Amino acid sequence: MNQKILVNQIIPFSNVDGEGNRCSIFVQGCQLNCLYCHNSETIQTCRNCGICIEHCPSHALSFQSNLVIYEESQCSHCDTCIMVCPYQSTPKAKAYTQDDLMARIEIYRPYIRGVTLSGGEPTLYADFLTGLAQKIKKLGLTVYIDSNGFFDFEATSPLINIVDGFLLDIKAVDNIEHLCGIKSQLHLKNLEKLLGINKVIEVRTVLLNKHMDQMNTLNQVVDRLEGYPQVPYRLIRAHVTGLKKVQEAYIGEAIMTEEEFVAYGDYLNQKGFHNFKLQR
Ligand code: SF4
Ligand code: SF4
Repeated sequence: MNQKILVNQIIPFSNVDGEGNRCSIFVQGCQLNCLYCHNSETIQTCRNCGICIEHCPSHALSFQSNLVIYEESQCSHCDTCIMVCPYQSTPKAKAYTQDDLMARIEIYRPYIRGVTLSGGEPTLYADFLTGLAQKIKKLGLTVYIDSNGFFDFEATSPLINIVDGFLLDIKAVDNIEHLCGIKSQLHLKNLEKLLGINKVIEVRTVLLNKHMDQMNTLNQVVDRLEGYPQVPYRLIRAHVTGLKKVQEAYIGEAIMTEEEFVAYGDYLNQKGFHNFKLQR
């Protein structure tokens, strides 16, 4: 397949994207726009506006035929381009074919247990990633999808069937539109469907005050995880490190104290649900 997708970055070895040492591939593009997104530069594709070029201290960016060209060998990885981009994008995303990605994965293969397809939202590229996942599985590696849960289950079923499981975000329930810019409960329905076919590796919720229905979200997830003791629930405390200034200004006051965050773990314990992890 010569089709290409835009990839924001490839992390050769990660131990936070599922069990074991894993190669993580972050696709470019997401249909959500979460207030606390720490990699908001993955949301949109580059508009080639050129604003970032003059800010690059290493002269790694230039214009050619109205396209922004990124010269990786000159890049000092300062991320200034990402911070100044007004369009939640990056000039550093690269287009890869399946064969390009497999060539990278082959290099890391002796040292990894599997590959996690993340983003951005990987299910936006379900057809491409289904073919990629088939090739990865032939190497004897596991494949996980790190997803926001908002996808058409039937249309995504070839990808769902081939991968080993999902790391699924349940970001909020009642006020998901305010938090992430989408008005839908599809994530909860997809959680139920994925649980029913044993395709959930982990459920995750990022917690912050004021902008989400914390208790309701926890209750909705825990109610659905009943009967699936193999599936842990990870609670992640939102923080401002790495956020753009505009994001920090908007949600800074809503960041929980450690005590507030730990209290949600206490709540789950009191509720009789103990299969959770707190990521401070
Ligand atoms: S990260 Fe961006 S701004 Fe910084 S050197 Fe690389 S291309 Fe230039
Ligand atoms: S990365 Fe952002 S600022 Fe740079 S050219 Fe693309 S859209 Fe413009």
